[in-house]
Amino acid sequence: MALNWFKKKKDKQEDAASTEQKPDNVSETFNAEDDPQDEVLEQNNSKGSGNIETGMAAPPDPTEQDIAPDVPAKSGGVFKRLKSGLSKTRKLLSTDINELFAGNRKIDDELLENLEELLITSDIGVQTTGDLIESISKKSSEISGPEQLKAALKEKILELLNSAPPPDREITDKPHVIMVIGVNGVGKTTIIGKLASRAASSGKKVILVAADTFRAAAIEQLDIWSQKAGVDIIKHKEKSDPAAVAYDGIEAAVARGADMVLVDTAGRIHTKVNLMEELKKIKRTISKKLPGAPHEVLLILDATTGQNALSQAKLFNDAIDVTGIALTKLDGTAKGGIAVSISSNLEIPLKYIGVGEKIEDLQEFDPIEFVNALF
Ligand code: GDP
Ligand code: MG
Repeated sequence: MALNWFKKKKDKQEDAASTEQKPDNVSETFNAEDDPQDEVLEQNNSKGSGNIETGMAAPPDPTEQDIAPDVPAKSGGVFKRLKSGLSKTRKLLSTDINELFAGNRKIDDELLENLEELLITSDIGVQTTGDLIESISKKSSEISGPEQLKAALKEKILELLNSAPPPDREITDKPHVIMVIGVNGVGKTTIIGKLASRAASSGKKVILVAADTFRAAAIEQLDIWSQKAGVDIIKHKEKSDPAAVAYDGIEAAVARGADMVLVDTAGRIHTKVNLMEELKKIKRTISKKLPGAPHEVLLILDATTGQNALSQAKLFNDAIDVTGIALTKLDGTAKGGIAVSISSNLEIPLKYIGVGEKIEDLQEFDPIEFVNALF
């Protein structure tokens, strides 16, 4: 019966998908002839700035671990922050799953329908939700309560999270150049500040490059981070050529023997095409000055934008090859399921997640910790 239900649902979903919104089908959204002021590129800024603290534990190898229920592999404090950062999404998923079974209900069509709604609300995505519901439906005879349902979901979600390629952790180039891109307000400059503080406190020589020359405030913001982190910054005047700043940044990094260069970029210029062309030019200039660089192109996505983040990823990746994603502001949303969407829909590793504004709230993404923090 549940399987019949699922088939019916799937047909319904396919119909819906072929008519209007396609949250899982990113190509639709940015074929539109629009500019960065449109919804794909639209962002809202939220307030605040980070404190300087240190420490980022390397995540454990996911292949060597079971999904032990709620047993943190990281230090307790870091896992606690992750859990508290994901509390809105956890509340949605976990609390509501408990409620699904209220009154000793068993898994039936209605329960599956409610579960489907929950997963979609968390922004796991229509297609991924369909896959999850199908797998739960197949196992329904073995599931008699919320804890079993959560365990089954955890297992399946972990599979999806592990389907993305793992980030390359080996850093061998000196200087190691990371170009940071993404639309306005997603948290590019903040991440640069956090990464710089961390690297500097572990003894690395870091140079920040203020290649977001679009607004004077953007240069000042990076300057403040450079002072907090105690690292050098290369900057020009507002509205100067960002590629020229990048050129000087790389030159300085080589001359000063820097270990790491973090290049900040603008998220909004006059049109979408101009933005992408500007980013390509910055990248070309960096490569010319230092062959092999940039070693990483880190795309920052804001979790509060939900499925829109996927569209942005496709857009940026088409223009400039992205090597890793950082998903910020998970603390501000119940749409944490977007991490699952990103991992299962994109071939780009999810490298960092941001669960707050403090330094330790930028964490290396660890699928096991993530599912344990979710349920
Ligand atoms: P940019 O325009 O991409 O450079 O974005 P900013 O770095 O200026 O960040 C925009 C706002 O988002 C700032 O107020 C940051 O403090 C905030 N922010 C960045 N990451 C996070 C996060 O993980 N959680 C929360 N709550 N706020 C964040
Ligand atoms: Mg910025």
